[in-house]
Amino acid sequence: MGASVAWHLAQRGMTNVVLVEREAQLATGSTGRNAGGVRHQFSHPANIALSVESIAMMADFESRVGTPVDFHRDGYLFLISKTSSVEVFERNVALQRRHGIDVQWLGADEAVRLAPGISTEGIRGAAWCAADGVADPNGVTVGFAKGAQALGVEVVRDTEVTGIGLTGGRVSSVHTSRGAIDTPVVVNAAGPWAKGIGRFCGVDVPVEPERRHIFIATPEQGGSWDVPAFEGRMPRSKVLVIDFDTSFYFHREGPGVLFGMGDPDERPGFDITVRWDFLPKVTEVAVRRLPVMADAAVSHAWAGLYEMTPDHNPIIGPHHEVEGFQIIAGFSGHGFQHAPAAGRILADLMTGHDPQFDLSPFAADRFTRAGTAGEHNVV
Ligand SMILES: Cc1cc2nc3c(=O)[nH]c(=O)nc-3n(C[C@H](O)[C@H](O)[C@H](O)COP(=O)(O)OP(=O)(O)OC[C@H]3O[C@@H](n4cnc5c(N)ncnc54)[C@H](O)[C@@H]3O)c2cc1C
Repeated sequence: MGASVAWHLAQRGMTNVVLVEREAQLATGSTGRNAGGVRHQFSHPANIALSVESIAMMADFESRVGTPVDFHRDGYLFLISKTSSVEVFERNVALQRRHGIDVQWLGADEAVRLAPGISTEGIRGAAWCAADGVADPNGVTVGFAKGAQALGVEVVRDTEVTGIGLTGGRVSSVHTSRGAIDTPVVVNAAGPWAKGIGRFCGVDVPVEPERRHIFIATPEQGGSWDVPAFEGRMPRSKVLVIDFDTSFYFHREGPGVLFGMGDPDERPGFDITVRWDFLPKVTEVAVRRLPVMADAAVSHAWAGLYEMTPDHNPIIGPHHEVEGFQIIAGFSGHGFQHAPAAGRILADLMTGHDPQFDLSPFAADRFTRAGTAGEHNVV
């Protein structure tokens, strides 16, 4: 988010910008730990709109930003088992189609054709969008940052924001581990750490960190899934399959398969230690939905943090209580893919351009109002 905002600001001529990163490298927070999934299939119209714009930019990233990025558009397949989910997804598909997205509602047999090897047990339908896919988060982040630097933005790494100075109730400086920066505007793009940055100027940014695991598995005997023995038992394409009602998902990653699942028992916190005792729970679901996983051995695992808001929609725009405090955070586990559009929208707002986007679902003050409709398709 930070790199995207910086690039878009620079594009609009605002180059007196410093991107401050606590770690030695960019994209080592949530962005460096995610699954790279990029989809149009959201339940909230504002998220669909973010996807349409972001995906178009990712597909054209090299010519627009100057760095090539890996982007495989092998589709996203949501498998639906519960009757209640069928109704919701049928409505979502209709909504997405009204937004011009080519999404289809399929039967179980058609789902298997798109993702060979899955078990159809219990599947009542599937939502499919061929234009979705998997992209490279590190490439996109570094591409934005390099492009911003080329236009004059300063990128400082290994530098922690430790405070925000206020004068007369508005932002006047940012304190860092390497000294202070005088500025009337600060953008809180701290992902799962956004709440802590809010505290520096006395405002509540309702973003909670939540650990999510990713595992990579190859065949038990080593090598790749792309050998004749696994033909028809594991997809060859990078199709991203989500068993929505369990939240188990997978896609091919190199010779292996990347997979993960949400843990309903996970509590908010910053711990990203891999909980190996969670793996058997994931494997049990994985083997049911993709039986070849019984022949798999996990070669890598890591955990990262989702950045959850109460309604699973992000916060984009100014905070109503402190002038000069902008927020772009809380993307609730689907932020990598929305960074191109979200960064453009915030940069437009900050430079006095009309973002041509109804930001009310993403407003910082929406949580004080009752009944905001959030995002349902959180994986
Ligand atoms: C396991 C997993 C799978 C996911 N899969 C997907 C997916 O398939 N598709 C998708 O779109 N999204 C996915 N996500 C979500 C996605 O990763 C996030 O929504 C997105 O990366 C958020 O970007 P960000 O820039 O807001 O946060 P981050 O990438 O976390 O960036 C915030 C940065 O702020 C820095 N920072 C924090 N505090 C300070 C400070 N005090 N001073 C200076 N710097 C600071 C951090 O070091 C970090 O680099 C996944 C997340 C996880 C954990």
